[in-house]
Amino acid sequence: MPITALCYFNGFQPKNVMSRLNLSIAAQASGSGARAAEFTTQHGKVLTPVFMPVGTQATVKCQNVGTLRDSGSTVLLANTYHLMLRPGAEVFRAFGGIHRFMNWDKPVLTDSGGYQIFSLPHACKMNEKGALFQSYVDGRWFLLSPETSIQMQKDIGSDIMMVLDQCIPSTANRVAAEAAMDLTHRWARRSLDARGDAPAALFGIVQGAAFPDLREKSAAYITSLPFDGFAVGGLAVGETKEQREDLTEAATALLPRDRPRYLMGVGTPVDVIEAVHRGVDMFDCIIPTSLAQRGTAYTSIGRLHMRRGLYRLQDVPLDPDCQCPTCRHYSRAYIHHLIKVEEVLGWHLLGQHNLYFYHRMMREIRANVVSGQFIDYYKEKRESWAHVDGDDPDAIHPRPRPARRMLLGDYEVLTAPQGFSSVRQCSSGEVMHSVSDPAEESRLLYIEQSRLDARLRISGAPELVIWDVGLGAATNAMAAVRCFEESLLTHTSGALRSLRIVSFERDLDPLRLAIRHSARFPHLHHAAPSAMLRNAHWEHASGLLQWDLLEGDFLEKMNLAARPDLIFYDPFSFKTDGPLWTTETFLKLFRAMADGETSLYTYSTSTAIRAALLWAGFYVARGVPIPPKTETTVACTRPECLHVAGYPPLPLLDRHWLDRWERSGAKVPAGVTPDEQADFENRIRKHPQFS
Ligand SMILES: [Zn+2]
Repeated sequence: MPITALCYFNGFQPKNVMSRLNLSIAAQASGSGARAAEFTTQHGKVLTPVFMPVGTQATVKCQNVGTLRDSGSTVLLANTYHLMLRPGAEVFRAFGGIHRFMNWDKPVLTDSGGYQIFSLPHACKMNEKGALFQSYVDGRWFLLSPETSIQMQKDIGSDIMMVLDQCIPSTANRVAAEAAMDLTHRWARRSLDARGDAPAALFGIVQGAAFPDLREKSAAYITSLPFDGFAVGGLAVGETKEQREDLTEAATALLPRDRPRYLMGVGTPVDVIEAVHRGVDMFDCIIPTSLAQRGTAYTSIGRLHMRRGLYRLQDVPLDPDCQCPTCRHYSRAYIHHLIKVEEVLGWHLLGQHNLYFYHRMMREIRANVVSGQFIDYYKEKRESWAHVDGDDPDAIHPRPRPARRMLLGDYEVLTAPQGFSSVRQCSSGEVMHSVSDPAEESRLLYIEQSRLDARLRISGAPELVIWDVGLGAATNAMAAVRCFEESLLTHTSGALRSLRIVSFERDLDPLRLAIRHSARFPHLHHAAPSAMLRNAHWEHASGLLQWDLLEGDFLEKMNLAARPDLIFYDPFSFKTDGPLWTTETFLKLFRAMADGETSLYTYSTSTAIRAALLWAGFYVARGVPIPPKTETTVACTRPECLHVAGYPPLPLLDRHWLDRWERSGAKVPAGVTPDEQADFENRIRKHPQFS
């Protein structure tokens, strides 16, 4: 009988089972749950509270291991899911594990892959056995089960492994939360069996969403199993800060004192100190390096956004109180410059500084627990760090602004004199649907022009698939949803064709921001957009309309979606989102579509972009005007796509356009080299649409 089953059925308490980590508590703060402890892994000792940088792809983004060591990193987190796909288990086996592979000799904690799997709803089939998912890299199918997850974590050579759990948003309903919890419990036992007597530690995960009684039940069950540590899972995915703190407090109170406690995916400095106060020992978060990529630094005086012109001439270090190599050797002006011109050194320098900041913060927290002053320190810091978490301290005396700005992340709401509102990306200055009322633009450019309602009425036709590239504030997708609902109301004879909308988006802040100010965005007065944010999926009550969200890079995710009939191509412009407008991208799209009839609608009328579409193989037509623009662009795999019964087809670009293109100063898109130019031009001239 496996050890887990023995322990469970004989009612052993984990306290009776030796932990592989041998946690010893050096100090316990009075008046607080905070504690200073240490534990030992196969690759050395770890002092807690500890912050673990995230090394998703066996590297902490843009940092080498020297910086990690020098800044004080003692444990790295690596992502089983990503490493399973690339480089794959056989590489880790060949190298004897991740430590030698990435030249890191200290402890590594691996997650189970569950979190990533459950954030890819489209490609995942789940049952008792595990989750079957399709690789976004090469389309291969993988089974992630408790057994395969542990095997992969063993191959990686992890020091601390995590059990596979079913992650659901903390805002999930009770039935879903309870089902996920029960499955997580069964998987926890299978994970322990799979670990067997391997030397690596294994952590159990307490689930139960936002239901205190479920959390209690989950903690009671999971801590009855002989895990070496315990994680609080399913937080930091949708709940408010206050809810998270309450749930954390309730969860840690139920965990044994003699095992490390890990709060997964948290957080900002204030989140960290709040959780330490509630008894948490271990943290991981992508914030230090991901904010660095966006040009943001955590400093002792607050968060600095280095993109701002304010820093252009500042010959002072990023943070006067920091001794990191970035602050010792470089000025704010230089970092500002690197960020502006998007040099990776800027990302590296800010990431390096942010890692020093986080590790210094953790050492300070620990020192205060040890010296018995934590509670005073906590009270002081949670006030002063509110601004560390908050916005730019150099904006304490901002120029007067006409009105309160409606901001979230890199986005703000703009309201035009005509009364409609749009979302603007602050860093690029680009406004989504900049030329007219967004809802009106969506209707004309995507819905009416594609004759969506007529297509939905082709009875007996297979499911119609729309790709919504650039979800933004969901203006285009909601225009399609409304069109479907109107068709459903007015269509009486026979069944309406079913519709699937697949939205692609890298950053959900524009939608979050617009929902926060939904009074200004009438298209959001509907249940679907919030459901998308929560579940990445929404289904119409008729069962005839499915809407899915694929979060991430479009070019990586497109293989996961069914071939579309219509593409609403609405990313930011070439200037801001260049990769989505290249010949390579259009060729990839065309190849994926070539065996069917697909039409792509876009606002761009750029000569070079139209040429790139032609070069890739599309037929290209003039789209309808969206005042003040006199036309837009439609591309399709075959000219037949432009014919919808009862409507005149859109006019293909003709020889007049070709003549103008020949004379154009911008006839070739960026990325085509001088060597390739002649071939490129010939391919345009020989395109069948001009013969
Ligand atoms: Zn620094």
